[in-house]
Amino acid sequence: MLGWLWERRASSFEVMSDLPRALRERLDEAFETGLPEVVRRTAAEDGAVKFLLRLADGVQVEAVHIPMGRRQTVCVSSQAGCAVDCAFCVTGRIGAGRNLLAGEIAGQYLAVAREAAFGPHDANVVFMGMGEPLLNTTNVMAALDLLEREVSNRRITVSTAGIVPGIEQLAQRKRLPNLAVSLSAPDDETRTRLMPVNRIWPIADLFRALRAWPLEPGRRITFEYVLVDAVNDSEAAAARLAQLVRPLPSKVNLIPLNESPEWLPGLRRPPVDRVDQFARTLAAAGVPVTVRWSKGLGAAAACGQLKGRETPRPPRKERGARSPHH
Ligand code: SF4
Repeated sequence: MLGWLWERRASSFEVMSDLPRALRERLDEAFETGLPEVVRRTAAEDGAVKFLLRLADGVQVEAVHIPMGRRQTVCVSSQAGCAVDCAFCVTGRIGAGRNLLAGEIAGQYLAVAREAAFGPHDANVVFMGMGEPLLNTTNVMAALDLLEREVSNRRITVSTAGIVPGIEQLAQRKRLPNLAVSLSAPDDETRTRLMPVNRIWPIADLFRALRAWPLEPGRRITFEYVLVDAVNDSEAAAARLAQLVRPLPSKVNLIPLNESPEWLPGLRRPPVDRVDQFARTLAAAGVPVTVRWSKGLGAAAACGQLKGRETPRPPRKERGARSPHH
């Protein structure tokens, strides 16, 4: 039966034709099946496709399919909104949403795999959609168990804003996914302005948990750093960031802000030469660095742009983070 659900992407017991009809009917009464329903697909010019998905109770979430040559990346949501409220994130604007169940998280992957017609073992999965995975750790860990039926843990990345108890809980798992941490500032003052969660788990606590993360040889922690014009993009910030992350086997992924004048008023993407300079400063300090000019931008599917609903709310009140202070 699992073969039907996974390899053949079945969404009901009804289609499992090699099972006796009476058994299918009994299964149907006892269990819920069904993949999230695709409400809309929006394609960006670069090939990324954003899927608006409806869950059984009507809640809508978003997943993104990013074809990368022969391989695929599927970005899944872990919550139907987010309470963490990072200043650079559109999802944070819609506020908290319920935790998704393990089946609803793995179901996003299966729904995208079925729509995009790719088979088992072809995909990477990243928990970078709506929500903070480590505020829903139990369901996320159960979703990892499901996903690992066909995606190796080395091809799964859980991205967190730095929820220390969640990192510690995930670290207990036998098979570890890759860990990505949204850092976005090398000092507490700037990070708290951009990511209020830093008030609860400041940088020192976060790095204590990261030093205890049982990294296998050859693997690295990824630090995501959203670059915001005149907020966290100075050379001094780059130098301080290098000092902070260098002791850990790690790499830095720079994400020039995905501007959204409607949702993130007052926040700007730095000019290209400043992004280059920031990357060069890190590289010169011996920190592996990449710049992600986000895929899926044209479909509002890039990191920090998923909202799972179409009705805009008024922009949030501007915070100090938006005024150039560095
Ligand atoms: S970046 Fe992630 S943790 Fe922060 S508000 Fe957006 S969805 Fe939540």
